[in-house]
Amino acid sequence: MKKTDLQQGRDLLATPVLPLVSMVQFLFLTGPFATVAEVVDELPEPIETGHAVYAHPRRQLGRYLELLRPLEGLKNGAPQPCRVVDAEGAAVDAMTAVSSLVLQQVLAAELEEINSLLCAPCGCTLCCTGPDRDMAQEFFEIPLREQETALFAVQRHESAELARHRAMDEEPVQVEGRPFYALGRSGLFHWQNGWSLILPRQERCPNLESSGRCRVYADRPLVCRRPQIFPYVLEPLKDDGGEGGAQRLRSALLAVVDCPYVGVLRDEIAAYGAACELDVIFRQNKS
Ligand code: SF4
Ligand code: SF4
Repeated sequence: MKKTDLQQGRDLLATPVLPLVSMVQFLFLTGPFATVAEVVDELPEPIETGHAVYAHPRRQLGRYLELLRPLEGLKNGAPQPCRVVDAEGAAVDAMTAVSSLVLQQVLAAELEEINSLLCAPCGCTLCCTGPDRDMAQEFFEIPLREQETALFAVQRHESAELARHRAMDEEPVQVEGRPFYALGRSGLFHWQNGWSLILPRQERCPNLESSGRCRVYADRPLVCRRPQIFPYVLEPLKDDGGEGGAQRLRSALLAVVDCPYVGVLRDEIAAYGAACELDVIFRQNKS
């Protein structure tokens, strides 16, 4: 894998949208603007920051306008969309909460595109297959939203026992007299924290074609679109519900070094994080 094979994704990494979002947020909240779109329309072009030159900032930001709308709610005194706490568990102020929610969502959308551009040229299927023989893990878990389970033509497992546990519990739930991951085939499981596809050792996702292509690529689950560089501005608090639940402020970016493009582009990912004023955490495996 050469850096030149990853040029499209590198171009996006070199011009992160988050610094532009922070600029727009400041201008909007301190200026006489009724909407965020008005601020974006009045931006000069190009814009140069300490990290990058943005040739078309208005166009770049225009793609995320919908995600910036909570800033208008903040200015108009709308109720805070969710509770955000700091590292000590104390609630942060409304401005920090809304701003971090916006940054998390914009970052997730931008990273979805970056990850897709970087993954495609790698010809790698690591995310779509279970652990190989040399790995310590017995299985990989792909968390799914309920509507996404219809994409997978594999056995579904639902029971009162599964509903009391999670895949990562220390003591594995028994299914058909064996640990749930030892059935010799992949399957859908309905846990306490939602659905997931379990890929046991050396099993492939049922949607992975022998050519290495994903059969449901256009409709692939959310988690498959954000493979190995993750937004970590906020972290959902365990046992505090899903969407709309409380979140902890992390101000970071996670990158999984098992992924070939993360290994090749470590410097670029570190520079992207620095430009976004986020800590970058490189770690071995997302699970
Ligand atoms: S759905 Fe597609 S992208 Fe997701 S794990 Fe399966 S083959 Fe891979
Ligand atoms: S490990 Fe990286 S390159 Fe391989 S499939 Fe996952 S995201 Fe793509």
